[in-house]
Amino acid sequence: MQSTQLVAFIRDIYKTNAFIPLHAPTFSEKEQANVADTLESTFVSSVGKYVDEFERKIEAYTGSARAVATVNGTAALHAALHQAGVERGDLVITQALTFVATCNTLYHMGAQPVLVDVAKTSLSLCPEAVEAYLYEHAKLTGQGCYHKGTGQRIKAVLPMHTFGHPAELDELLLLCKQWGLTLVEDAAESLGSFYKGKHTGTVGEFAALSFNGNKIITTGGGGMVLCQTATQGDHIKHVTTTAKVPHPYEFHHDEAGFNYRLPNLNAALGCAQMEALPTFLKQKRALAQHYAEFFRKHDCQFVLEPSYARSNYWLNAIICESEVQRDALLTETNAAGVMTRPVWKLMHRLPMFSHAHRGDLTVSEWLESRVINLPSSPVEV
Ligand SMILES: *Cc1c(COP(=O)(O)O)cnc(C)c1O
Repeated sequence: MQSTQLVAFIRDIYKTNAFIPLHAPTFSEKEQANVADTLESTFVSSVGKYVDEFERKIEAYTGSARAVATVNGTAALHAALHQAGVERGDLVITQALTFVATCNTLYHMGAQPVLVDVAKTSLSLCPEAVEAYLYEHAKLTGQGCYHKGTGQRIKAVLPMHTFGHPAELDELLLLCKQWGLTLVEDAAESLGSFYKGKHTGTVGEFAALSFNGNKIITTGGGGMVLCQTATQGDHIKHVTTTAKVPHPYEFHHDEAGFNYRLPNLNAALGCAQMEALPTFLKQKRALAQHYAEFFRKHDCQFVLEPSYARSNYWLNAIICESEVQRDALLTETNAAGVMTRPVWKLMHRLPMFSHAHRGDLTVSEWLESRVINLPSSPVEV
């Protein structure tokens, strides 16, 4: 494929000769009004109506029992893993092909990732690969699941729904039940993505969403923990807001908490963005269809949603025929002012995770050298 054809196609979609970013946020009068209202009220920080409203909106949309807003997605992931009982020295099974935040969170909890392969269809954690790893390296005792080599506890399985494409959650959940593990979803990229009719992040016991500037909706910075019971939700709220025991004036904190609360100013943005989400999703799915049609006539494979899922198509992706083709496309599109980018380096190639336990990573390595993300901002096509 000629990069000039791709650049022309993308410029035609976005109807501009200016720089085209990978993913830009879209705001309307509603965001303006909510932010102005927050400034007017002076409640820009840790108290105010928008935090609650944003949480209830996310609960209604996802069908999650409880949603707790946090200052960013990484904080949400930390709070989710903390509530799941992940402790210092534990191992958590996740994918080698992910954004670094997934593994950074484990690192700072004193836990370690076990890097496992992804599925070709979803680009997300592969149940067969998890099973193969457990079968070879894990043993189940009365106390739980342990690594045969190091004796470390394996506590959780942490799939990430890459670019919004849901992992095979039923299969992962079954493995978790068989091996005594907790399923925690890194759903940072998958607000608006459904697995067999269920919103991503509601199959696992806990999940994290992100509302960073490049995600499908944004609060500037922000995140959300999803969980399955009100009791867990209450505790997550408690621990993410310094674990202060309610009292008219005394400062008593009953455990070591975090200051992870989302400011009201950011939540005000989130409430407005949630109203726009259905439109973003419609536009992004139409855009993905457009790309899919274009690539049917070219030699790169467009990544379609898995058959069992409805994806938000957060970031559109293609799989090139070779690393050489990928490098040429990346160079030429970026030089032409159309932003494209490769997928993340696999986690074990980063210095802090170079010694991480890992399984066979054939698919991840294959994808690592071939995947390109294309401009994906919502647009009328
Ligand atoms: C964006 C993202 C995060 C972190 O979210 P922040 O809000 O940027 O902290 C975590 N995991 C994945 C996979 C992400 O894409």
